[in-house]
Amino acid sequence: MQHIDKIYINGGFVTPHGTEIFHTINPATEEAIGTVRLADEIDARRAIAAAKAAFPAWSQTSTAERVAALTRLHHAVAARESQLMAAIIAEYGAPIARSRWMARYPAEVIAQAIDTLASFAFEEPAGAARVSLCPVGVAGLITPWNSNAGFICNKLATALAAGCSAVIKPSELSAQQTQIVTEALHEAGLPPGVVNIVTGRGEVAGAEISRHPDIAKISFTGSTAVGKDIVAASAGNLKRVTLELGGKSPTLILDDADLDLAIPMALTAGFMNSGQACIAGTRILVPQHRLKVCEAAVVQALAHFRSGRPGDPETAIGPMVSRKQWQRVQNYIRLGVQEGATLLAGGEGRPAGLDKGWFVKPTVFTGVDNAMRIAREEIFGPVLTLMAYRDDADAVAIANDSDYGLSALILGHDRRRAQALARQIECGRVLINTLDHEPQAPFGGMKQSGLGREMGKWGMLAYLEPKAVLAG
Ligand code: NAD
Repeated sequence: MQHIDKIYINGGFVTPHGTEIFHTINPATEEAIGTVRLADEIDARRAIAAAKAAFPAWSQTSTAERVAALTRLHHAVAARESQLMAAIIAEYGAPIARSRWMARYPAEVIAQAIDTLASFAFEEPAGAARVSLCPVGVAGLITPWNSNAGFICNKLATALAAGCSAVIKPSELSAQQTQIVTEALHEAGLPPGVVNIVTGRGEVAGAEISRHPDIAKISFTGSTAVGKDIVAASAGNLKRVTLELGGKSPTLILDDADLDLAIPMALTAGFMNSGQACIAGTRILVPQHRLKVCEAAVVQALAHFRSGRPGDPETAIGPMVSRKQWQRVQNYIRLGVQEGATLLAGGEGRPAGLDKGWFVKPTVFTGVDNAMRIAREEIFGPVLTLMAYRDDADAVAIANDSDYGLSALILGHDRRRAQALARQIECGRVLINTLDHEPQAPFGGMKQSGLGREMGKWGMLAYLEPKAVLAG
């Protein structure tokens, strides 16, 4: 059991004013693993005041000073990789390969921000004017539970690189990961107040950050519904807002695709992060005349996507993060059947042999119409839909017939044809025959998948405002 009873304000670990105790549960065993004393609105206000006081000095630091501070943070986070991995498995239940990546990523993403900062031009001429890019002020950074440490480090490193001070409101479900990152941050010795961390409820500490007039910018990763609330709450002082929201990403399997490669890759994209990934490819589009053979190939490939205990090397899909999330996924599986879709694999209930833990059977529906709710709404679990299309134009139309536009995957032999289709798909990122990530490229969504971009120079620009100076 780990009891976390401090938050981080003005360079020190302090007891929150908030008194609510939140219990953290291991989702693979349903056992209690700790408690967190949650921050409230007053704590959020104290954190904002500390960040406001620290902003003027931090915003004037040189690139070299920020690189030095971020490098110390990078070393401190990298040194805690194994600690982070243990926390990720305990409080999130990610399978081994995934947790290994999730534990490495926070340090990697800080290194990427350092690279971006080192070559970033904060000033440039525009005709007779000099344009300087100025940090916007105090940034409020709000993160979800599905990769909490990684999201904290990405948002924080970028905000600091731009010269902003920050107040972080991490997910209350991931307090152990947050604690490890906070200890690293403390060790890195940043000036007091430059970074503050208040773990609390979204509708309490998060809402205070969203509406507070001393917060100039919000960077939020989470659900589309909460993203909309944040936009409304932040309008009071016209905060700059970056939103990384949900998705219902299409995977287009073209008629020239090698199914032995394409089907496992499509399932990997769909079941990524146990299905709890914003970019998960949950709508698999296959040519009508290959539907039957695709269905058979899916059933065969599913043998390699076992849902099970995180520590088991055979496990590809871990538990859902909480009982609430498990219940939500079960409801969607029931809904799919009610809507008239056919279960190709999986279904309601836990997988055989697992009577405890928030495990879901890897589930694939076929006979799905894109108008069904299981094809339109983000389920955030290992539940995929297989849909048939007539020709390439129909595939693009189905792919684009969505409120979301985060990511898409195209699998096919003819690269030129795949590139041409990529240009027609309305989303922030298109992958062709790969699941690789490119940290220098912008990441974010079109339509209701978000607003603005993170990563690389686009990520930095989101914390800066241009100021033009003309001298007579
Ligand atoms: P969520 O929206 O419920 O919560 C995200 C964060 O917002 C949490 O810290 C929560 O406490 C806080 N919050 C909740 N209500 C708030 C309010 N009224 N004001 C301010 N903050 C509030 O999301 P979740 O369930 O933690 O995460 C899953 C969601 O995140 C999915 O929809 C997923 O697609 C999305 N996501 C998107 C990306 C992306 O990059 N696009 C990445 C990961 C997750």
